[in-house]
Formats: sequence, structure tokens, C-alpha cells
Amino acid sequence: MSKCCSGARTDRDFAKRHLCPMNGKTYASVPFSTIKYHIKAPWHWKEKTQPYYFCDDPECDVVYFGLDNSVIKKPALRTLVGIKEKTDHSLVCYCFGITRKEARDDSEAKAFVMNETEKKACACATRNPSGRCCLKDFPRS
Ligand SMILES: [Zn+2]
Repeated sequence: MSKCCSGARTDRDFAKRHLCPMNGKTYASVPFSTIKYHIKAPWHWKEKTQPYYFCDDPECDVVYFGLDNSVIKKPALRTLVGIKEKTDHSLVCYCFGITRKEARDDSEAKAFVMNETEKKACACATRNPSGRCCLKDFPRS
């Protein structure tokens, strides 16, 4: 096998998912723009030309990590990552400011988000630290 082919394959394998260097679990990639929306002083962040990923494990301090296993931890962010906190007032939906308690106790909250998402009136891709739609983080009813 030539070097060039094996290199290309590795790039593809790692592009979408990568292991969090802290907890060793696999997570999906996240856009640069999302990290910049949540990191403190993004003008000091030396982004590298590599994919970054989002770790949603509440027990893990790492929020974002790069393919090179560099990590961005909770204190480096200006956003409190709701999915990593266990308190009732932590946010589940960042577009409309819905807390975990509201998501759990107020059934209209989820219906509202589903409706707004359908109309594409949400901004989950940047506002949600995971870079993905918040509906997956709502408690199942
Ligand atoms: Zn982690």
C-alpha cells in the first residue's frame, strides 16, 4: 500500500468522529464557527487546520478537542455548557433560553422548539455548543 493512499484513508476515517483524549469515547465534529461563538477571547485562539470535536460527557471537563488531541476545557468557554451541568437552570436550548427544568416540566417548550426548528427559525449550529440541534438534548417524553 502506498503512503499516499493510507494517508488519505486515515483523513477520511477521522474526519467526522474522534476519541476524546480524556474519556476515550467517540464524538462528532463541530464547526470552527461554533467554537468561536463559545470560547473566551476567540481572537487569542490559535485554531489549527484540523477537525475539532465536541465531547458531551457531563463527567468530562473537555468540551472541544482537536484531531491532534489538543483540548479546550470548560473554563476556557464563555458559555456554560448545559449538557455538562446537572442543575435545573442549565440550558438545553440556546436559541430560546430553555432550561432543563422547563424542557422537562413544560411540554409546550419542546413543541415550540420543534415548530421553530421546522421553520428554520433557530440557530442551533452556532448557539448550541454542540453545533447541532438542541432537540436531541430534550428529555424524552
Ligand atoms: Zn470528553
